[in-house]
Amino acid sequence: MTVYLVGAGPGDPGLLTVRGAELLTRADVVVHDRLSAAELLDLAPVAAERIDVGKAPGRHRLGQEQINALLVDRGRDGQTVVRLKGGDPFVFARGSEEAHALADAGVAYEVVPGVTSALAVPAYAGIPVTQRFSSTSFTVVTGHEDPTSGEGTVDWSALARTGGTLVILMGVSRWGEIARALQAGGLAPSTPAAAVRWGTRPDQQTTRATLATLADHRLASPAVIVVGGVAAEELDWFGTRPLSGRRVVVTRARAQSSGLVTRLRELGAEVVEAPAIEIVDPADAGTALRAAVARITSFDWVVFTSPNGVARAFALLPDTRVLGGVMVAAIGPGTADALAEVRVVADLVPERYVAESLLEAFPAPPAQGGRVLLARAAVARDVLPEGLAAAGWEVEVVAAYETRPAALADDARNRVAGADAITFTSSSTVVNYCDAVGSDGMPGSVVSIGPVTSATARQRGVTVTAEADPHTIDGVVAAVVAALSSGFTPPPQKR
Ligand code: SAH
Repeated sequence: MTVYLVGAGPGDPGLLTVRGAELLTRADVVVHDRLSAAELLDLAPVAAERIDVGKAPGRHRLGQEQINALLVDRGRDGQTVVRLKGGDPFVFARGSEEAHALADAGVAYEVVPGVTSALAVPAYAGIPVTQRFSSTSFTVVTGHEDPTSGEGTVDWSALARTGGTLVILMGVSRWGEIARALQAGGLAPSTPAAAVRWGTRPDQQTTRATLATLADHRLASPAVIVVGGVAAEELDWFGTRPLSGRRVVVTRARAQSSGLVTRLRELGAEVVEAPAIEIVDPADAGTALRAAVARITSFDWVVFTSPNGVARAFALLPDTRVLGGVMVAAIGPGTADALAEVRVVADLVPERYVAESLLEAFPAPPAQGGRVLLARAAVARDVLPEGLAAAGWEVEVVAAYETRPAALADDARNRVAGADAITFTSSSTVVNYCDAVGSDGMPGSVVSIGPVTSATARQRGVTVTAEADPHTIDGVVAAVVAALSSGFTPPPQKR
């Protein structure tokens, strides 16, 4: 079939093009470099083959010839192949060599341009590459001539005379020579120069200096170097967000974490996903839930304590109109939102989003008695069923799902170690995280969603430094911001 040479953008997964995303979601094979963002690789179907052709520790990277041969091979197999390349595939990326190899072999290919680091990285560092009247052109140039090509072909003294902005890729290792050549060509030593490392990623770092002084700073790859008047601009929006430069751990099950993860990222945080639990079918494979849903009209109330319960119950309900005479309660706004998604408006959401508050708000049963269905996790507190029964309700509790400990990947473990904050959104995340990692070495800020989760944390010897109020995902995000953006970083906890 077709081999797509797709630009992955410079690092921020949000800078993949819509076309690139669409192709990834139906790829059979993804051929990528080592530093490709995990978020992009996750777009491909679970069953897609992912081939890392970059240099991995202990393994030699594939040479360009081998990559070309691989693409030709897979293309001939009739598979949909996405060759994911950093930035734009035709900007210093050898995309043309891959395209030639495919053309020569008669394999169909298409090119999907990407957002190049040459433009995006300066933009994320607050540097516009042009400026009306003062910087009227920009030149993107390699600072690393192919060593096998003999003499360099870049005419640095000509570039020094352009008067426009210079954007230098792969220029770190030869920056000293480059700066000298530009000055010899007539560029003033005081010309602003900036180096941006790991641009568009949460760990982006910008060094601002001049042509003469940039070499005095410790520069490291990968970096984009900008030379020209615009390099003094500091339209810094990226590094000034509330959580810029902060690393936050999310322990929520992966299936439910996206809302929290997205909000933290939008505030500038580097998010480490370390799901402590996963959501699976209950032990009876959903038999009890199916049976209860089949006689849902026999209940006066149905009570949901999580979006999971809502999703699983409604997946078994062929026609929501049968709910007409049944009242529905949600423990909090997240659960109410899940109900809203299936077009059911919760009749009751308590003031505080805990079981005790739901009990207080719950009406008394009718004189002839009444029935409540409680669809929730297999293991949960008894506060609700006991309280409802004490109030005179006949309560049927069914397990809608089960939470299970999830294995923590080694690289997640390492990244957790240097984090500024960790979030716990349920007691089960605390318990399973502590079982897997222990309670020592917690990040300085520990944020819990509410009093029940906090109590579990304290039982495990974890000091909770902030509790969300309200007890929602938005509340958790606000608590993280309050804890981390004050400029005060508590020291790591020791037991
Ligand atoms: N095709 C890519 C460039 C590949 S050459 C593109 O269009 O962006 C690799 C060089 O790109 C690196 O040496 C560095 O100079 C630059 N680069 C790529 N991503 C970068 C990033 N996130 N931050 C800083 N520099 C980056």
